[in-house]
Amino acid sequence: MISIRQLKKSFGNNVVLENINVEINKGDVIGVIGPSGCGKSTLIRCINLLEAPDSGEIRIDGVNIAEKNAPIDSIRQKMGMVYQNFNLFSHKTVLENVIMAPIHLLRIPKKQAIEEAFSVLKMVGMSHRADFMPDQLSGGQKQRAAIARCLAMKPEIILFDEPTSALDPTMIDEVLAVIRKLVKTGITSVIVTHEMGFARNIANRIFFMEERGIYEEGTPDEIFDHPKREKTKIFIQKLKIFEYKLQIRQLDIYELAGKLSEYGQKYDIAKRQMNGLNLILEEILVFLSQNADHKDMTSVIVSYQEANQQIQLEIRYGSPSMNVLEHPDFDEISRQLIHGLATDISCLPGEMGYTLKLTL
Ligand code: ADP
Ligand code: MG
Repeated sequence: MISIRQLKKSFGNNVVLENINVEINKGDVIGVIGPSGCGKSTLIRCINLLEAPDSGEIRIDGVNIAEKNAPIDSIRQKMGMVYQNFNLFSHKTVLENVIMAPIHLLRIPKKQAIEEAFSVLKMVGMSHRADFMPDQLSGGQKQRAAIARCLAMKPEIILFDEPTSALDPTMIDEVLAVIRKLVKTGITSVIVTHEMGFARNIANRIFFMEERGIYEEGTPDEIFDHPKREKTKIFIQKLKIFEYKLQIRQLDIYELAGKLSEYGQKYDIAKRQMNGLNLILEEILVFLSQNADHKDMTSVIVSYQEANQQIQLEIRYGSPSMNVLEHPDFDEISRQLIHGLATDISCLPGEMGYTLKLTL
């Protein structure tokens, strides 16, 4: 369906993509991951003709769209794109946003366009918001409207460029749920995302981008559990680590809980374990925030091992200079609670203070 050969794209002297060779088949759901700036957006923008490649071929159903006289309009109609920032027309209602392209580009009569618009709006759960203006919608609703607008053109391929990265954490799920529903219809999709759990569950192939191209490709299990190449391994390993650094006197336990909950969802960590982790952190960090020196920096590092479903928690703190769990002022009930939740606890002096390690 999409066949890319020797694709090269640069901006001035900055070669962003080089020597890309890949086939995307009908019905594929491709998850594109990689560090920021590695060219993920550029790749899908080349596929969607928003950027002109320097050289190489991008064939869509056999037609090379990188050629000067390619039939751009008809190729564009096969593809829809969903952007990070929705790109809705702000002075038009949701319905007007959805019917505009079908009426003007596909020349569909208005009455039919409206009927079809309601069917796609229904699919994304937005038919009751048809008359709303974009600024009356939440971010999640805007993105669902944008997906409906894209579907109204009946594309054969949908390209998503980080569709949830501009959203509030509370709204990510509703958009992911819609995308999940959409790919179940069998539409060919390329999804650039930072939501690794989502990419893993939804995609049949993962492209990991690095070094100006698709550095490693494989099934989700291959890439996430058995990456072969060095940079993929490092990237995947880092993903699984949650790191939070704070000036302990400025502890915001709710912010930390929010970030941890996202991390937990990403790796499908059991609720029971996440609750235990939150409890332990709250007891220890609140104690430290009341007993540590003014400028002390504290780090929290959580790593989750999928293989044995264990969480390793590391808390590095400057003061007190001892195992905080053995501090005379540490609450006895809290201490017992922590010993009940963690299977293994150790505390050692480190470079800047102490490191408390717990396994749960
Ligand atoms: P990603 O989506 O993986 O974060 P991008 O494809 O947006 O990466 O960008 C890849 C590289 O190309 C970056 O170095 C970026 O600065 C550069 N780049 C992207 N778009 C342009 C542009 N329109 N003009 C100049 N440089 C660009
Ligand atoms: Mg990008």
